[in-house]
Amino acid sequence: MKPHFCSLLPVPDLLKVEDLLVIQPHPDDMEIGAGGTIALLAKSGTRVTCLTVTDGSVGTTDTTVSQDDLIARRHEETKRSAALLGIKNLIWLDFDDGGILTLEIIRSEITCYIRRLKPNALMVCDPWLPYEAHSDHVRTGLATAEAGLLAHMPYFCPADMQDGLKPHAVEMIAFYYTAYPNTFIDVTTTWGKKMAAIDCHRSQFSASQRGKLKQYLEAKAREESGNQNGELVEALKVLSTGHLHIFEQAWQC
Ligand SMILES: [Zn+2]
Repeated sequence: MKPHFCSLLPVPDLLKVEDLLVIQPHPDDMEIGAGGTIALLAKSGTRVTCLTVTDGSVGTTDTTVSQDDLIARRHEETKRSAALLGIKNLIWLDFDDGGILTLEIIRSEITCYIRRLKPNALMVCDPWLPYEAHSDHVRTGLATAEAGLLAHMPYFCPADMQDGLKPHAVEMIAFYYTAYPNTFIDVTTTWGKKMAAIDCHRSQFSASQRGKLKQYLEAKAREESGNQNGELVEALKVLSTGHLHIFEQAWQC
């Protein structure tokens, strides 16, 4: 049961978002984590931009493929996938995959794009996922949460202001890959798009790996729906920026 403190700060309605900035550590994360929801929002008129933090250059076990070729291939895969999901605008930061990029650098870049694009919602992987071992995911999630929390403050990342950008307040952040979901989106109608988008990432998954991934995602999506009617659901954690600082019950809301 939710603590009564949660009622003091309502969970925002993701489906009412007009402008969404989706942030992913690597090409393919957004599709696996929230591809059905992204496609649903785009279909209903939400403007969706996707920002990819790293270049994906570590994502292979095949040393006959050069990293430059892999980067180019992953860009192409993401372009095709984004088109299927209805994403109009793609941004690449192209930091080294699995590199030593700092939280502060990612945070500064994301703050700049928040001020430039003025989204009312952000979507990113949950950095508080227990047992998440990939630091690109943890740092991308944390940097995005902090940028979303502070982008409206003029003395935060003031270098942006010299470029004529203005502070901008984000209303909410939706976390995919979360262990504490509070928002369950019925994505039955866009499930096919999610699967087709995952299929674009041939550099990442063999046919048998794609089959297993899809099996896992579908079983999870049916379990999240909580009934036997065959709906497919993506589970997200949606919080207002007010939840993201010294609010001890946020993980339960
Ligand atoms: Zn990833």
